[in-house]
Amino acid sequence: MEIHEHDVVIVGGGGAGLRAAIELGEAHPHLRVAVVSKVYPMRSHTVAAEGGSAAVIKPNDSLDHHAYDTVSGSDWLGDQDAIEAFVKEAPGEMIRMDHWGCPWSREPDGHVAVRPFGGMTIERTWYAADKSGFHMLHTLFQTALKFQATKWYHEWFATKLLVDEGRCQGITAIELLTGQVHAILAKAVILCTGGMGRLYPYTTNGAIKTADGMALSYRAGVALKDMEFVQYHPTGLPGSGILITEGARGDGGILVNKDGYRYLQDYGLGPPDPWPRLRAMELGPRDRLSQAFVHEDAKGRTIQTPFGTAVHLDLRHLGEAKINKKLPFVRELAKNYAGIDPVHDPIPVRPVVHYAMGGIDTDIHGATTVPGLFAAGECACISLNGANRLGSNSLTELLVFGRRAAAAAARFATEHPKLAKELLKKQAADEEGRIAAQFIRKQGGKERIATLRREMNLVMEESTGIYRDGKTLEPALPKIAALKERFRNVTLDDRTAPFNTELISAIELEFMLEVAEAAIHSAFQRKESRGSHQRTDFPKRDDQTFLKHSMAYRTDGAPRIGYKDVVITRWPPAERVYGK
Ligand SMILES: Cc1cc2nc3c(=O)[nH]c(=O)nc-3n(C[C@H](O)[C@H](O)[C@H](O)COP(=O)(O)OP(=O)(O)OC[C@H]3O[C@@H](n4cnc5c(N)ncnc54)[C@H](O)[C@@H]3O)c2cc1C
Repeated sequence: MEIHEHDVVIVGGGGAGLRAAIELGEAHPHLRVAVVSKVYPMRSHTVAAEGGSAAVIKPNDSLDHHAYDTVSGSDWLGDQDAIEAFVKEAPGEMIRMDHWGCPWSREPDGHVAVRPFGGMTIERTWYAADKSGFHMLHTLFQTALKFQATKWYHEWFATKLLVDEGRCQGITAIELLTGQVHAILAKAVILCTGGMGRLYPYTTNGAIKTADGMALSYRAGVALKDMEFVQYHPTGLPGSGILITEGARGDGGILVNKDGYRYLQDYGLGPPDPWPRLRAMELGPRDRLSQAFVHEDAKGRTIQTPFGTAVHLDLRHLGEAKINKKLPFVRELAKNYAGIDPVHDPIPVRPVVHYAMGGIDTDIHGATTVPGLFAAGECACISLNGANRLGSNSLTELLVFGRRAAAAAARFATEHPKLAKELLKKQAADEEGRIAAQFIRKQGGKERIATLRREMNLVMEESTGIYRDGKTLEPALPKIAALKERFRNVTLDDRTAPFNTELISAIELEFMLEVAEAAIHSAFQRKESRGSHQRTDFPKRDDQTFLKHSMAYRTDGAPRIGYKDVVITRWPPAERVYGK
């Protein structure tokens, strides 16, 4: 087996991973840095982000406004120290992106333009038309490439964290081209592996968002925090799940039911006029809008499509010129994937799984409880987003906390120069043996990857959808445990070494099953309703018992769920009020 050695290894080449790589290249040029990514970095999910990235920039705005919107958006579950650090560092990060060449959309006088976004009191979402993620990832990648000492492992798949004496000291990874397993040793590892949308059947998330980093750290003993909080975005295309950005509503789009009625006014989101009003109607937070859809559907006021029911997102009143200038991608997606030109017809949309608020438990420097292991981006739970993320906070989170995690990892790597090389090599060889025995050489397995994955998707959708209750969560617990058990009997058709995508799908499914189990147990035990976690059997928020983060710990049996206090600095818990 080949052994590689670095000071800091970043797993993930999306927004968070690349921001971390730039920080290490700029501030710690003496460190030997590596970026490992299962896809070429520009194919990371960050590229698909559309609407934009939030940071205070206009004179009518303030850090306190941004912080309060995030706190109330999180239904008070976000840690306020993390939120305060976030809003403070956000503008500097966004200006840095500008200097690195990110083509932000501008006002006619040259100032950066901002658009309104759901749940925000003031317009503060910077954007590059409706291809913000593409331009941000491009900017980060071209900047990261300047640091010639950084070693890139493109299309390498991390399978395990190497942990000795309680300290993370590297990873094992499959080089996809050859199928070889390698050991990549490092004094610090930063996980930037993105989200877990693929646990569900219907999601905006790319096929690579399979919870890998969450599972890797969970296996290494780190708790998964707040896993029951899964965001449904209110406007995905029926069938494909392709996202129609919140920017479409930020720029004036409205949601109507089958009678052309703006139904959100019936769900505590305010009167429709005067329009547009921030934190009201279509600019309410995502959890509330997705929940309103479920009620509207139950009343039979949605439209039928070949892929289930939907409501209409109407942009026609914006006119062709504005749609072409600010929402060209929305027009392209609607035309290509729904056969609708939004200049002339409303777009059918419905809620779709979009984002994981929960993830790897870290502090505000991205450090986990395993020394040497750090995490940032969507895979991490810092916790900025609490029970519901506000749109456009995530892209900024990648920058702020990607940089912070890199700084902390650099410090750790410098202070801990020694690696237990022989022991780590042995662990890596064991992992190579496990993969061969469990997947490549295995005889007589009967279970198919696609069947197990479909069943897992259905269990997740039934038990942890927009609304949950004990009656569906309780039976889901043995169902997910049974799927894990059946996975042991999985069989592969492809036993060859180069580019064995079937092998990768199998390992991804194994990761997802672990994380699914943590999510279902966390949801079952949280007997209250908060943000995106709505229990019909416990419809009220219960701060007395549950103003706490859920912490799922891995055991040999079912996960153990513990709780950790939420950090409250300046905003004591209050009611979430929108539409006023
Ligand atoms: C369609 C869409 C639109 C969005 N729009 C917005 C928006 O407008 N504003 C906003 O704030 N947020 C938006 N979001 C959310 C936001 O884009 C994501 O949360 C964010 O981009 C995640 O970035 P990341 O760096 O954490 O991970 P990703 O960009 O998902 O990157 C993950 C990286 O990890 C690597 N990786 C994963 N597993 C392994 C493994 N086992 N081995 C090696 N490498 C691995 C992958 O190769 C990849 O490089 C959107 C999300 C979607 C899906």
